[in-house]
Amino acid sequence: MGMIRTPLIAGNWKMNLDHLQAVAFVQKLHWALKDAKHDFESVDVSVFPPFTDLRSVQTLMDADKIPFGLGAQDLSVHESGAYTGEISGAFLKRLDVGSVIIGHSERREYHAEGDDIVAAKVKAALKHGLVPVICVGETAEDLETHGASAVPVGQLEIALDGVDAAADIVVAYEPVWAIGSGQAATPEQAQEVCAKLRDVVKTKLGDDAAARTRILYGGSVKAANIASFMRQPDVDGALVGGASLIVDEFASIIRFQK
Ligand code: PGA
Repeated sequence: MGMIRTPLIAGNWKMNLDHLQAVAFVQKLHWALKDAKHDFESVDVSVFPPFTDLRSVQTLMDADKIPFGLGAQDLSVHESGAYTGEISGAFLKRLDVGSVIIGHSERREYHAEGDDIVAAKVKAALKHGLVPVICVGETAEDLETHGASAVPVGQLEIALDGVDAAADIVVAYEPVWAIGSGQAATPEQAQEVCAKLRDVVKTKLGDDAAARTRILYGGSVKAANIASFMRQPDVDGALVGGASLIVDEFASIIRFQK
């Protein structure tokens, strides 16, 4: 018997929703789930708002006892100091942030974040008790030349270098060509790559880590396809972009039925 992994549905808002919109959104999402008599124990939900929203969303979730996790979309490799525009893991932790997306393809592409920076950010997150949500995935070109799994497997191997076997991490497999394109990977492809990523976790961190680590699929996930991904044995949840910005759609994804 394998270890039971609680599914995780994570909403990556990217650069959308200011702090007022964010508070209204989280409140509406919570109401929608309560109205639907959602079992909040059955699935973990996390939202990843822009930095400027974190304080407001944290205050609301605390006051209204909203059982969602709070995450950030990035962090600095540095602790503090002369790094204009950077946000340290220590600051995030002080705001009760629990996790942080690292190595999203948009950071890799628009901010030239290579595997070495991703690995350093993973260490910075863990140092501050933040769960890194490590994003890996192949471009359309990679898919054509190397197949689906070679690039994400290589990215994860580097990201996990020197990570402690007991570390709490999440992995997100996000094919770059599937992000925001409306064209999701097939559930079979997601399963194949997620299984290989679990093997990487096993090789680098051991059997226990492989059994407990949640591996998410991301890329054009919506209410209509979430169940097909969740039926795959090595897919433990989803990292959702566009569809996490629509209350009813995101609520339906959270309430998926296998
Ligand atoms: P998408 O984005 O759901 O809009 O495709 C996913 C992501 O970038 O995390």
